[in-house]
Amino acid sequence: MKTVLFYLQIDGQPVDTTKWSQPNPFLPVLKEKDDSGIWNITDSEKLKTEFNPDWRVFARSASDSKGPAMSLISALQILQDKKVKLAFNIKVIMDFQEEMGSPSLPKAVTENRELLNADMLFIMDGTRHLSNLPTLTFGARGIATATLKVFGPRNPLHSGQYGNIAPNPVFETAKLLGRLKDENGRVTLEGFYDGIVLSEKEKRLLNNVPENLDSIKQRLGIARADAVGKTYQEALQYPSLNIRGLNAAWVGDEVRTIIPSEVVVEIDMRLVPESDGERLMESLKKHIKDDGFHLVDSIPSDDERRKYPKLASFNYKLGSKAFRTDMDSPIGKHLEKTMRKVFGSEFVNMRTTGGSQPMSPFITTLNIPAVSIRIPNPDNNIHSPDENLRLGNFLEGIITCLAILDEPIE
Ligand SMILES: [Zn+2]
Repeated sequence: MKTVLFYLQIDGQPVDTTKWSQPNPFLPVLKEKDDSGIWNITDSEKLKTEFNPDWRVFARSASDSKGPAMSLISALQILQDKKVKLAFNIKVIMDFQEEMGSPSLPKAVTENRELLNADMLFIMDGTRHLSNLPTLTFGARGIATATLKVFGPRNPLHSGQYGNIAPNPVFETAKLLGRLKDENGRVTLEGFYDGIVLSEKEKRLLNNVPENLDSIKQRLGIARADAVGKTYQEALQYPSLNIRGLNAAWVGDEVRTIIPSEVVVEIDMRLVPESDGERLMESLKKHIKDDGFHLVDSIPSDDERRKYPKLASFNYKLGSKAFRTDMDSPIGKHLEKTMRKVFGSEFVNMRTTGGSQPMSPFITTLNIPAVSIRIPNPDNNIHSPDENLRLGNFLEGIITCLAILDEPIE
């Protein structure tokens, strides 16, 4: 008999309780939307006699990822109550460090390889496709992050006293960053998109989702999309380079007439299986050096300040790796059949999700395919105040788990 390993995320993000519109985010409340679009707390006792799929549970981690975890646990409970035997063996691993990037997971998986050994991995984490149809996701992008510091004068300087003398590091930084993408939004680093080939069949499979780029652009409030893929789904199949934060001196009420002493640039790259994080980060480092920057380890010495007109430090970290399971593989076909039984054609298969999941220890150490089963509504405010889970999604999540647990795997 086959064995399936289920991955549950158990921890949650920290919360700012003052920003929530309920007394305590750690105490779940049931809410109903009124005609003016406001969510109001309603008596959860009502659930004993009534059910409205559009009611929502608001609580910290309701969607990320207590709802998905409880869908599986509830399904197991129901099968036990009904004395129904599972169609395969199951193992469950609970990750209490997901939001920290699962630092202990690789070691735990390596040390418990025998215990965790299974034929496949089902991940109970992640949000549904924008259409809010039940979603299976066959991969996730990996991540690498970097910090670039460009050094100017030793201290911030008065712009009247030293303007025209001391170069402002913002200008060099802006030129450097500006050259990282062309006018169509494509990354210019050498080899950045290397190795990614999408066949016509793959394009058809991955574009087989109910969405269109125009309405996505409208929702995001942008006139033009980066020209990396022809569709949103195609764009997600490539690595991305993002400036996730940029800081120099002061702005707003604290603005002052100075030449900043440094610029801090925070960068993230989302990776796909074809793009090695180290290779791409090294290529970015080369771009910075080729631009004439002398790179120092941390703070430049007096000697370095005297010698090099363009000084910077650059450090990067590799996070979780990308993974992808073939939609056409036996596990893909099995899940397709199971979903079809319950939802007909009303569900979505996604080749990859844009975000990252710490799955590589399972995939590289246990060498098993993984698919994530996505339950929560896309407008669930995860990682933000008023996180919520739509009851209809929770119910369909339990039904999905029941269907999966009841379908024998060949
Ligand atoms: Zn999260």
